[in-house]
Amino acid sequence: MDNNKSKSPHFLFVTFPAQGHINPSLELAKRIAGTIAGARVTFAASISSYNRRMFSTENVPETLVFATYSDGHDDGFKYSTSSDKSRKAATGQYMSEMRRRGKETLTELIEDNRKQNRPFICVVYTILLTWVAELAREFHLPSALLWVQPVTVFSIFYHYFNGYAEAISEVANNNPSGSIKLPSLPLLYLRDIPTFIVASNPYAFFLSAFQEMMESLKQDENPKVLINSFQELEPEALSSVFYNVKIVPVGPLITSRTDSGTRGEYVEWLDTKSDSSVLYISFGTLAVLSKKQLHELCKALIKSRRPFLWVITDKSHRSKEDEAEKEEEIIKSFRQELDEIGMVVSWCDQFSVLKHRSIGCFVTHCGWNSTLESLVAGVPVVAFPQFNDQMTNAKLLEECWRTGVRVMEKKEEEEGVVVVESEEIRRCIEEVMEEKAEDFRRNAARWRDLTADAVSEGGSSFNHLKAFVDEEGM
Ligand code: UDP
Repeated sequence: MDNNKSKSPHFLFVTFPAQGHINPSLELAKRIAGTIAGARVTFAASISSYNRRMFSTENVPETLVFATYSDGHDDGFKYSTSSDKSRKAATGQYMSEMRRRGKETLTELIEDNRKQNRPFICVVYTILLTWVAELAREFHLPSALLWVQPVTVFSIFYHYFNGYAEAISEVANNNPSGSIKLPSLPLLYLRDIPTFIVASNPYAFFLSAFQEMMESLKQDENPKVLINSFQELEPEALSSVFYNVKIVPVGPLITSRTDSGTRGEYVEWLDTKSDSSVLYISFGTLAVLSKKQLHELCKALIKSRRPFLWVITDKSHRSKEDEAEKEEEIIKSFRQELDEIGMVVSWCDQFSVLKHRSIGCFVTHCGWNSTLESLVAGVPVVAFPQFNDQMTNAKLLEECWRTGVRVMEKKEEEEGVVVVESEEIRRCIEEVMEEKAEDFRRNAARWRDLTADAVSEGGSSFNHLKAFVDEEGM
């Protein structure tokens, strides 16, 4: 018998300090601790994410405990978005500091739990935390990567680093009207490819971190990737062969904040609206829209005259010197007209909002969590992607799952910047709210039912998760 296996397997979860990573990993931790008899989870997040109240520690099973690690910036990492060069340098420094301090603090946590006779039997870590996999290997612990994007995107990166770099780069960098066919994936055009692969993208420096992740998986004896997706959603992509990497779809991992005091004024406002009449607009917690783009969006909303709830989140990673460019400031001249038809807030419980009967359309940046939340809530979308996997997610929403339309961006001749014009935004909103509303609502309702089946007892993701825990710990 394997000595590491025990009757009450103890998992260590380590999550990157970004909302889109914390939400699905906390949900998975809750599921393991709450539904699998005997299993326990320690959920480690950076001190900065506790300080920024990025999640609630309330209403969790007793078998789930919280812990911290340091990313070297306990008050929160801030960088200037005004220069690509300074952002790249600051991010590089931050990632290596996180590796150093993170390793130190998690080593203490692992050793401490060993001494207390509750050793970890498996470590689950999110994207960009390759150093956690290294640490697990140092302690001879098995680990699993929790991929918080779709399988399709995993497959694109996987193939990029395993034989297809040249072919993908050709489309990404040299042949903008070309396309690429990867095994078991739909035909991909430049606008569908994660922007980290596009050399001219200001965030392309993240590509090396994805390469590290893929290389690290190869060093594991039995590499496993838990994916926040499910069998019925991406059957073709899941049929792809990733050599010895085992893919375990366990999603959708959706969580609603259940702590006290989160019911905002906006809920009362939504209560006054008729069914499927309101636009919910959010570009997530990271993307920052250009001044021109924000103005175009304001003009579209004013012209469409449909009630809307627009979340402009506080981008706490931005440094003080960017203060003048805050999005709320940029839209100030439109505020009076906007406030006559809709509401602008700085945060909301998004999943609860999406489930509110008044919401008719989600204008979304297609972050993977938002994408899944639209499917789970059964809400049609206007897909308005900004960067990385959001480009691919938008394609999947429009072409594969058919729950909405994707905006068509336009390259401005003079400045060379890409913008979606107000008339195009308005056209997409009308298509989703009126012209094709019936089709999109029907498709969205079908996905809502399928997502519920996948995670309920006996569903595909439920079974995959149980098998994973059995294999690791029991
Ligand atoms: N979110 C929220 N309220 C907000 C804005 C965002 O609850 O006002 C949540 C949203 O429901 C999602 C996560 O934050 O679960 C954002 O993740 P996503 O992958 O969609 O986008 P990111 O912020 O990573 O770009």
